[in-house]
Amino acid sequence: MSASIPQTLTASGPVDDDVLIVGAGLAGLFLALQLAPRPCTVISPAPLGQAASSAWAQGGLAAAMHPLDSPEQHAADTVAAGAGLVDPIIARLIAEEGPARVRDLVALGVPFDRTPDGALALSLEAAHSHPRVARVAGDLAGKAIMDALVSAVAAAPHITVIEGVRATGLMQDANLQVAGVILRDVSGTLSTRTARETVLCTGGSGGLFQVTTNPPEARGDAVAMAWEAGALIADLEFVQFHPTAIDIGRDPAPLATEALRGEGATLHNRDG
Ligand SMILES: Cc1cc2nc3c(=O)[nH]c(=O)nc-3n(C[C@H](O)[C@H](O)[C@H](O)COP(=O)(O)OP(=O)(O)OC[C@H]3O[C@@H](n4cnc5c(N)ncnc54)[C@H](O)[C@@H]3O)c2cc1C
Repeated sequence: MSASIPQTLTASGPVDDDVLIVGAGLAGLFLALQLAPRPCTVISPAPLGQAASSAWAQGGLAAAMHPLDSPEQHAADTVAAGAGLVDPIIARLIAEEGPARVRDLVALGVPFDRTPDGALALSLEAAHSHPRVARVAGDLAGKAIMDALVSAVAAAPHITVIEGVRATGLMQDANLQVAGVILRDVSGTLSTRTARETVLCTGGSGGLFQVTTNPPEARGDAVAMAWEAGALIADLEFVQFHPTAIDIGRDPAPLATEALRGEGATLHNRDG
């Protein structure tokens, strides 16, 4: 880190941003839209819609949208699939939020697949006891969702987007409260951006592995920055792993969409 960049700020003085969102995947862009009309700034290392796992997601979003389904059942399936590792309160919270968040994405124009009578076409996957996965054009959910969000963000006057910079560290005030971020642009130049609220949305860390289905940008930067600023970090052992990556000597490895298994396909390795 350059000696000319302060890591500790005084709490007084004007700030650059009210809310600063680090990362421009589904989490970062959805938050930015939800904050309206509160002004916010989104930091993205690449042009919006790129360098994010969100744009690579295939199968779709799991939510209890089927008439015979319920968030309670979705949460119970999640807890059972976790074999003792799932926090039931969090599973319930996420399962209850799911249907409303899918409806939010419908309102933003995401063209989810429909049945002939106009209902959402839901796929059955993995440990779900009901069809639950809302999809787009088969396995293009992530790209369609990000296209809709990027358009909405571009049209939102309360959102400022800064592309081509990565956060490399958090700034802290005299009370050790987070007060903004240290940024590095593509030429390596460092700068700072101060904010009243800083939200870290830099995705997962799967890209750190030698062969992965994740984009190389998914390297857990926010976890490291938060740790350096004194945050408690939990559950680091949970890393997204796709058992259906195709081993063709490339990284990132292409993914045989999990929707295939949901629709009844079986997987065979090179030994049959
Ligand atoms: C191939 C693939 C298929 C998937 N399929 C599905 C699926 O079918 N259904 C499902 O629910 N999930 C799926 N997932 C998982 C899903 O995509 C992720 O859980 C989700 O997109 C995470 O969203 P996010 O916004 O947290 O992270 P991301 O979308 O990864 O966004 C992180 C953002 O932070 C930026 N960033 C990273 N580091 C920095 C930094 N230092 N400074 C500034 N910005 C930074 C990135 O460039 C990016 O803009 C899949 C993932 C992959 C890779």
